[in-house]
Amino acid sequence: MAKKGRVFSGARPTGRQHLGNYLGAIKNYVALQDTYDSVYCIVDVHALTTVETTENLKQNTFEMALDWLAAGIRPDESILFVQSHVPEVMELHTYLSMVTPFGKLTDLPTFKEKVRQQPENVNYGLLGYPVLMTADIVLYKTDIVPVGIDQAPHIEFARETVRSFNYRFNTKVLIEPQVKHTEVLKVVGIDGKDKMSKSLNNHIELASTAEETTKRVREMVTDPARQRKTDPGNPDICNVFTMHKIFSPQEEVDMINVECRRAGIGCVDCKLRFANNLNKDLEPFRAKRADLESKPSYVQDILNDGGKRARAIAQQTMSEVREAMQLP
Ligand code: SF4
Repeated sequence: MAKKGRVFSGARPTGRQHLGNYLGAIKNYVALQDTYDSVYCIVDVHALTTVETTENLKQNTFEMALDWLAAGIRPDESILFVQSHVPEVMELHTYLSMVTPFGKLTDLPTFKEKVRQQPENVNYGLLGYPVLMTADIVLYKTDIVPVGIDQAPHIEFARETVRSFNYRFNTKVLIEPQVKHTEVLKVVGIDGKDKMSKSLNNHIELASTAEETTKRVREMVTDPARQRKTDPGNPDICNVFTMHKIFSPQEEVDMINVECRRAGIGCVDCKLRFANNLNKDLEPFRAKRADLESKPSYVQDILNDGGKRARAIAQQTMSEVREAMQLP
């Protein structure tokens, strides 16, 4: 079937992925492959703006690639690669920086936030982050970028930068990417309040064993009003119920919805049911991941091959860019 265009997305190498990563991004990446020519990038260079040491960068990249592949990224069809394997992105970043006003970068809320977070390390890369991100997107002649509503301003920045470049050099060589709004679920962590994240240690790793997963699920915070099994609960404010709606059969969801409210089911039982359904759902993922993990050179080959295919597109774009700029 003819594809509708090209989709690009990237994520920092954060190592083993968790349920929040899966429901918020990876699941969508997998689905988009059916309709779009897909380019997925592990953005290791972006990671350098915040990491203190690169000691774990390789391992984190490998772990993340394992999770993406095990979740269903099809490397024969889609391009899965590592950002630094395509050095053309640094060149495009430099050219795009020439059409980006300094004040526009310093005014960005994301930059101000980073300055607050790491005042001891306000590096140039941090400031130029949106420009490098724009280079990532446009280098591959991307048509659409899947983002949640909160990230749409980043793509607007990329679109404006493309317009500035094309206007300045009187060309149409760079394509303005379109936003594809995706329903990005805000997956709450096991603490029942914050967004699931590794740094808050409130996450459930996809690659954990069934036992580890069950243990984490048992730690999930439920409706705080339910102190005893005999207290009626409110599933509408309970994160376990939210997860049931994603991973459990409808009859079970309906049953919990009724029984929780009249104290007909205890939270321990409810959590175990969720853990069982989640573990069942993750079984094929875990089997595939274990298989890939036992073949690290095969996974490296996939990333290398993805890098070559990405680079072929990038080189073509850059030769058009240099010509448009009339570089000697
Ligand atoms: Fe949440 Fe289930 Fe307990 Fe109800 S029974 S409060 S839905 S864990």
